[in-house]
Amino acid sequence: MWGDFLAKYFGTNGIRGKLDEMTPEFACRMAAAFGIWSGRGKILVGRDTRTSGQMLSNAVCAGLISAGCEVLELGVVPAPTVELMVHKLGADGAITITASHNPPEWNALKFVDSKCIAVSPERGEGIEKIFEKATGTVEWNKIRGKTAYYGAIGEHVSTILANVDAERIRRRKLKIVLDCGNGTAGLIAPRLFRQLGCRVLTLNAQPDGFFPGRNSEPTRENIRDLIESVKATGADMGIAWDGDADRVIFIDEKGGYIIGDKSFALSAKLAMQRNRRTGKRSNTIVTTVATTDLLKDIAREFAGEVVYTKVGGPYIAEKVAELNSVSGGEEAGGVIWPDVHIGKDGILTAARIAEAVCDTPLSRLIASLPRYFNAKTKIMCGEREKLELVERMKREEGRAGKATLIDGIRVDYKDGWCIMRASGTENLVRIFAEAKSAKKAGALAAKWKKKVEGWMRNKKASK
Ligand code: MG
Repeated sequence: MWGDFLAKYFGTNGIRGKLDEMTPEFACRMAAAFGIWSGRGKILVGRDTRTSGQMLSNAVCAGLISAGCEVLELGVVPAPTVELMVHKLGADGAITITASHNPPEWNALKFVDSKCIAVSPERGEGIEKIFEKATGTVEWNKIRGKTAYYGAIGEHVSTILANVDAERIRRRKLKIVLDCGNGTAGLIAPRLFRQLGCRVLTLNAQPDGFFPGRNSEPTRENIRDLIESVKATGADMGIAWDGDADRVIFIDEKGGYIIGDKSFALSAKLAMQRNRRTGKRSNTIVTTVATTDLLKDIAREFAGEVVYTKVGGPYIAEKVAELNSVSGGEEAGGVIWPDVHIGKDGILTAARIAEAVCDTPLSRLIASLPRYFNAKTKIMCGEREKLELVERMKREEGRAGKATLIDGIRVDYKDGWCIMRASGTENLVRIFAEAKSAKKAGALAAKWKKKVEGWMRNKKASK
């Protein structure tokens, strides 16, 4: 009954589905499995602003209680708030009910363990096995209960205030436009930035599960109103979050949209500077194999190193914890600041970038980073074929440069790099290239695409 859904949706970060699959029955049973997997201890539950959130939260709490867990319900909060509170409250894990940037009809369960590391597909298999065994409720006298805990957002705000130079930001009186996208950022960001003495203007700051203001993915097209507002009001910067506020996107004082890999690179630079003063962490930056070489440049500046993982948030968090790294992140604008906590935190990222903007305009901070160009393309193919194509690329191109085989194949050449991965959800392979010029990046991607298409043509002809 449940097998197909699991096979289809136990993805890179938790379980995602529309409500015909992500039913309260499913959520209840999966939460019970997670409760058992995590040792039947103290589990936090939070949710985003989606219309299905309360229903699924009730089901998740019931499942956890049935497994003998003690539940603390945080209510509607950003995903990073839940993760921070795992540390603060010494919890054994957390479930956040959020479909992040997906359309309003979707929802998802995101799991983190007691170290606040998101559960990867590999570790998720352990939960899946318990789920399939169908366990009963614990004995009546082992049932603990649920307590509402509504102070989490205040604690997140005070933690951030304690981890930036709040006085410096207050003196500068930055003018900032916040686009909360009707998601959970609206519950924390205006409050935080007002406490930082900023002149705050807001767009879509009211939480609303219909997301009437804009689509919750903060792409350039979706946040056009923010870009216009920054320009019209002469603000120092604009900030936009996705639905659960783990990812953040910035607009500079000229209205320029800053892509996620640049704000991640700037964040990593700020974290490296901070670590140079404190020296508490290993001089490493963790990111996925698909991330820009900008991170290598930042690491080199501080005599550090970039460590690659497979694509997916949980892998980054696992590695950051293992290496005690200075920074972790991904190209879509999700950044981990391990000196505070190990979850991607779009609110903390926003505060730390604002701190840097006190001295230097955002456009100049970004312009000081080396420039790269990229090209991406995809090739439709069969389900089994996509894996065969990646294997063949490993054999044929793996020796042409420095090959990294953690996820698909990435080859670093003298003057650029290229990666090919099989899509996890669709029947296609994706090729991404990066180089110091647009021409070179385009040529690299085209070269790999031509190779793949040639193999596919030959295979068809030989049939
Ligand atoms: Mg998100």
